[in-house]
Amino acid sequence: MANEFSSIRNVYCVGRNYALHAKELGNDVPEEPMIFSKPTHALHPVEGELKLPSDVGSIHYETEMVVRISRTYEPGVPVEQMVDGMAIGIDWTARDVQNVLKEKRHPWLLAKGFKNAAVLSPFRPFPNIEAFEAMEFSLLRNGETVQEGNPVDMIFPLEKLISYIGEHFGLAEGDVIFTGTPAGVGPVKDGDELILMMDEERFGPLHVRM
Ligand code: ZN
Repeated sequence: MANEFSSIRNVYCVGRNYALHAKELGNDVPEEPMIFSKPTHALHPVEGELKLPSDVGSIHYETEMVVRISRTYEPGVPVEQMVDGMAIGIDWTARDVQNVLKEKRHPWLLAKGFKNAAVLSPFRPFPNIEAFEAMEFSLLRNGETVQEGNPVDMIFPLEKLISYIGEHFGLAEGDVIFTGTPAGVGPVKDGDELILMMDEERFGPLHVRM
């Protein structure tokens, strides 16, 4: 595990990047990308047992396409030169905790940054922007598809996410971006078996322990 993820530096995530997902949680569609980050300690592969906190209320899966950055950001560099890999992951979210944090206007770290909160598959070569946007990705929970998405539906496309993150926070080799979840997020319970699908490729199973 340490080896697989040891080259990863910053883990950026995008909130509310699919209109139907923003709506299902009662949020407005943002005018600018909404970026947060997770500690690298949160990374966990799509295999084996996934220990999630059992004492913080509801924990939701958010299935997301992830890209890996290959060079230091400079304005105007094409996406295909900035990105060299794509993967699928789960941005785990302690939803009850997040709702309290939102009310208090506190940062989301407690709800998004706990250990194992960033599940990530191995990376595949990044094809090009059109092929990336045409990818279909999904999550199966106990054999049933519970979430499906397609990056073409992202409110802010990859080019915008890269320029926004690059300008505001910096972006360089080894950084990864969780690009946001489509609709259909939901809770898990102890014993659930999860499979992630990126087009025809299958990752897992992952066994939830709470
Ligand atoms: Zn998310």
